[in-house]
Amino acid sequence: MVVRVLGSSSSGNCYILDDGNEALIIEAGIRFAEVKKALRFNLRKVAGCLITHQHNDHAKYMRDMVMNGITTLALPEVWLAKEVAPMVSVNPGTGYKLGRFKVLPFRACHDVPCVGYLIEHTKCGKILFLTDSYMCEYTFKGLNHIMVECNYSDVDLMMAIEAGRTLPAQRERLMTSHMELGTCLELLEANDLSEVSEIMLLHLSNDNSNEQRFKEAVEAATGIRTYIANPGLVVDIDKY
Ligand SMILES: [Zn+2]
Ligand SMILES: [Zn+2]
Repeated sequence: MVVRVLGSSSSGNCYILDDGNEALIIEAGIRFAEVKKALRFNLRKVAGCLITHQHNDHAKYMRDMVMNGITTLALPEVWLAKEVAPMVSVNPGTGYKLGRFKVLPFRACHDVPCVGYLIEHTKCGKILFLTDSYMCEYTFKGLNHIMVECNYSDVDLMMAIEAGRTLPAQRERLMTSHMELGTCLELLEANDLSEVSEIMLLHLSNDNSNEQRFKEAVEAATGIRTYIANPGLVVDIDKY
């Protein structure tokens, strides 16, 4: 199983889990033509698509998923906001099966209704996927892979505000919508990481983050190999 990053920022999010026979798309914030290309035009192997929330960088192209017959999971609020006839309206806390992927949505903490997903497949074990969430109310057992937002750090945010790249008012919005580095580290610390093979940091802000420092901070705190989810990144996540 590999995870392929097509986009991971406010300009568009999309990830593909792919074991060669079966694929799961996470988020529909990247043009469908690019998604098809990444799948080498083999849409038959797609087991489904998971959407976290209604913002365009995550859901702009969900209609294309549905129109191409891809089983798409999203909160009722997302279907409503996007004016697309619901395919699967998810209920946080309820499990779903997409091919051999088992999926459990759980409530995230954003400025609109949002879910994270716990994803399980025999080829890779358990993946935690959480983005656009300023905190996490839950801990998880037996994780093998972690894909988590690390949007900004207070230090980088203050520097950006001082330099005039970021408006001061933006700080308040970020604090109640996106995950700060310290919160990300707390989340990692709160979970059992003994079986986690790698951590992928998602949705870094252009202005208020620093890839190298974020990666180093997470690796220093956890001792686990950490990647920044840049477009084009492919990571092997086979279980052993
Ligand atoms: Zn976003
Ligand atoms: Zn958002």
